[in-house]
This record gives sequence, C-alpha cells and structure tokens, in this order.
Amino acid sequence: MNYQSTNGSSPAVSLQQAVLNGLAPDGGLYMPSEIPHVSPEFIGAMDSLSFQDIAYIFGAPYFLDSVPGFEYRRIVDESFNFDVPLVQLDRDSWVLELFHGPTLAFKDFAARFMARLMAHYAQEFDQRITVLVATSGDTGSAVAHGFLGVDKIDVVILYPSGRVSVMQEKQLTTMGQNITALEVQGSFDDCQAMVKTAFLDPELAQRMKLASANSINIARLLPQMFYYIFLCSRLRPQWMPITVSVPSGNLGNLTAGLMAKRMGAPIQHFIAANNNNDTLAQYLRTGVFHPKPSVSTVSNAMDVGNPSNFARMQALYNNDVEAMRHDVIGYSFTDGQTTRAIATTYKQYGYIMDPHGAVGYLALQEYQQMHSSCTGVIVETAHPAKFADVVEPAIGQTVPMPDRLGAYAARAKQSIVIGNTFEDLKTFLTSKH
Ligand SMILES: *Cc1c(COP(=O)(O)O)cnc(C)c1O
Repeated sequence: MNYQSTNGSSPAVSLQQAVLNGLAPDGGLYMPSEIPHVSPEFIGAMDSLSFQDIAYIFGAPYFLDSVPGFEYRRIVDESFNFDVPLVQLDRDSWVLELFHGPTLAFKDFAARFMARLMAHYAQEFDQRITVLVATSGDTGSAVAHGFLGVDKIDVVILYPSGRVSVMQEKQLTTMGQNITALEVQGSFDDCQAMVKTAFLDPELAQRMKLASANSINIARLLPQMFYYIFLCSRLRPQWMPITVSVPSGNLGNLTAGLMAKRMGAPIQHFIAANNNNDTLAQYLRTGVFHPKPSVSTVSNAMDVGNPSNFARMQALYNNDVEAMRHDVIGYSFTDGQTTRAIATTYKQYGYIMDPHGAVGYLALQEYQQMHSSCTGVIVETAHPAKFADVVEPAIGQTVPMPDRLGAYAARAKQSIVIGNTFEDLKTFLTSKH
C-alpha cells in the first residue's frame, strides 16, 4: 500500500516513509492510496474474534507489505492489551468505552500502536529515533506512555510550565526511562513552534533522526479504525441500522470511523459531536469551512478551531459537502448543556460520563429525536476521573480514581526547565547526542 498527500503535489510514499515524515513535503497529510472493501456479512461473522484478531485482519492491507507478519502480530497484541467494553444504557443507546488503556483516554490505541511501529523501523535501520512532542496536556502523556520502555526510541516532551493540570504534569514528568520532560518557560504555542523549527533545522537533521508523534501522523490514524470494526462485530448491525456519535476535536477519530465505514463497517451515520468549537458542525450546516481561534470549554481535548484532519475528510469525499453530509451530521453543545448531561446520565442510568462523552451523548439524543428506532453508540473517549473537577460537581459525589491514575500522583516530578526558544531546545538535544 502506498500513501499519498492530501495536497496531491508530492509523490506517493511507502508506509515507512509516511510514518517517519509525518507531514508530506507539500504540507499535506498522508492517506492510503486505496481503501479495500470487505462485506458487512464478513464483519458480522467476526463476533467471536478478539479485538487483536480483528485489528490484525483489517490492518493487514495497510501494514503487511511494510512489516513482517509476525512483527505486525506482536505490535497488535502489545498495543491493544486492554478491554474495550460495550455498555448498554437503554434499549437504543450504547457506550463504547475506549478509555481502558494506561492513560485512560482513547489516544492510547493510536499512541501505543505508533510507538511500536516506529520502534520496528528503528530496529530495521539500527538507528535511534528521537520523538519530539509538544503537548498542552493529554496527548503528551498518551504518546509518552506508548513509547515508554520501547527500544531505540527517545521521547522528548515539551510542555508549558504552569499551564497543565497537576495530574497532567504528574503523568508527563514521572515516567522516567526513555522519556524526558522539558518544562518550557512559555506557552503551548512556544512549545509547538520550537518543535516545528527543530524539524526544519539541517544541523539537527544531520546529528539525529527526529520524528513527530502528533496527530497528523498516519500511524496514529489507521489503528483508530479497528474499534469501529470491532463495535460492528459485537453489535451485529446487519440486523439494524446503527449510528455512532464521536466527540470530535482534531477529527482523527471521526476520520478513522469514516474510513472503517468505507471498508465496509455497516454504520449508517456518524455524528460529529462538537463543543463550542464547532467548525465542522458549521461546515456541515453551511458548506463553508471557516476555521477560527479555539475557545476553552469543559471538554478541553476538543478545543480545536482549525481541525487538522479536516483535509483527510475532504480527501475521502472529494471535496463534496453533499457526499459528506450523506455520512456525517454535526451538532454542537455548550458547557452548560454538557454538565447537565453528566448529571442526567448519572441520574437516569447510574452511568458517569466524562465531559467529552457527554457531548457525544447530547448529540446522539438530538439525532434520535429525528430518527426514531435507531440504535446509537456513543464513543466514550476518556475516563471521568481524568476530569473530576467538572464531573464531581455535576453528579454531586466523588469519582473513584483508577489505581493507575492514582499511582502517578504519588511519584516525584522530574523535569528539565528550559527557556522558550528553539536555541534552548537545540542546546538540550545536542548536549545529549
Ligand atoms: C483527543 C481527544 C478527543 C478528540 O479527538 P480527535 O480525534 O482529535 O477529534 C476527544 N476526547 C478526548 C478525551 C480526547 O483526548
């Protein structure tokens, strides 16, 4: 399988090049050059296969010509070594819980897979790879945790000092081993600019192999298809139309769902659930894509005003908004509606939603009012304990903290404080190599 740029003016490349490049030279994002199709009956017949088996089978066309079969099997088995429960709320509504990985958010799926794939390439070339990540909070911990203890990879996380939550900082700074946390005396934008400049610096390029682990990397997109196919195998949707509500920010999760549908996953509709950062919902309503500065909300992992994976959605639908509307409908909700939904779902079902899942719940409700007797699935992207400051006041009681989150709180922070310029980063990187 080759990978081509959404901008169409750089040559198609192998998976390995797409993963190590991150962004295509023409500034576009990589997409597989074709999306193979399988029959829905085939997916329906997979109800007794494990998540890993399904990931192995459906990932095969994308990965097997670049990675030996036994290696690919190991990558899949190690990456997805946690539960993916499907919880029923009422007759027509289900929750697909994607937060049972080590950092309690769905980003674990993609981050763990990408880490092992990159490690495979590092091994193949017998070269160390330094992964740079700028983070405003959650992405950094999922990515760093994915790479923790992975051979031949060093991870350098840049985060803005004093601007992440206490729990997020603990998750970023207490891992040790091959993970280094740089506490930047500046903003998230400074961190991002430092990383961007590093990738363009010829001297660094000569001294070390740098790679990016941010969400535009194709290795983070593809593994997110697997849980949509897994969902269909469990709900056997060939007997009924199902609709999936996806809490959306940078649109990687939604794009992967649409690719799974293109592969044959029998999902009738997707719902793009936005908070007040409603660029996509607006686009679906008006046909005009109008990026805007992000505003902060209680579902902060979706505070994205200019979603980067929109280019991939456009590529999937040949820039045809009508075609996209056939598959996706968008809704957006305020913080007030979100916290009330957390209270309601707790009262009604005894189920504790996190703020992102709550936006997904609201969107599904709105959809079901228009489409009666539709089976809906909410993709729950984070554990509610990660957002206890929002969830606890809404439900009027404490959220039990899973042991692995609590364990971080007990460990000592280890960070290296640096200034907010590229030169500061370069000095650090070159002193290590
Ligand atoms: C990243 C994230 C999202 C948004 O996912 P995208 O793929 O960027 O649309 C939603 N919820 C949580 C908890 C996240 O961490």
